[in-house]
Amino acid sequence: MADCIFCKIAGGGIPSNKIYEDEELLAFYDLKPQAPLHFLVIPKKHIPSVMDLDSADVPLLGRLLNKAQELAAALGCAETGARFVINCKADGGQTVDHLHCHVLGGRALGWPPG
Ligand code: AMP
Ligand code: ZN
Repeated sequence: MADCIFCKIAGGGIPSNKIYEDEELLAFYDLKPQAPLHFLVIPKKHIPSVMDLDSADVPLLGRLLNKAQELAAALGCAETGARFVINCKADGGQTVDHLHCHVLGGRALGWPPG
């Protein structure tokens, strides 16, 4: 999608601090980290939000979560854990309208969110 910053990152038009890439997925460090470890995993396909998923996306989302877990473990969170977050639309606090899973780790995080 032409105006989407994460599509541009996926297409290489905007640089990112890349952690992992394959045909379907990309993982890169968040520009404004909220924890010692904070990265995003996105599908390269433009899906605006969780509310736009359909059943055909189930395998892709499974792969995305599996990759998020694999990378979190490889980056030191296997024992301590991490938070896997997908914000959705206005009330969910989504600011970039291209589906992405945040992975936050390296410190104990508070709950509930404000
Ligand atoms: P959300 O508020 O859930 O939509 O999260 C969007 C996230 O994308 C925020 O944590 C931003 O810091 C992050 N972000 C925005 N632009 C970039 C970028 N160019 N590279 C890396 N992370 C970004
Ligand atoms: Zn996009």
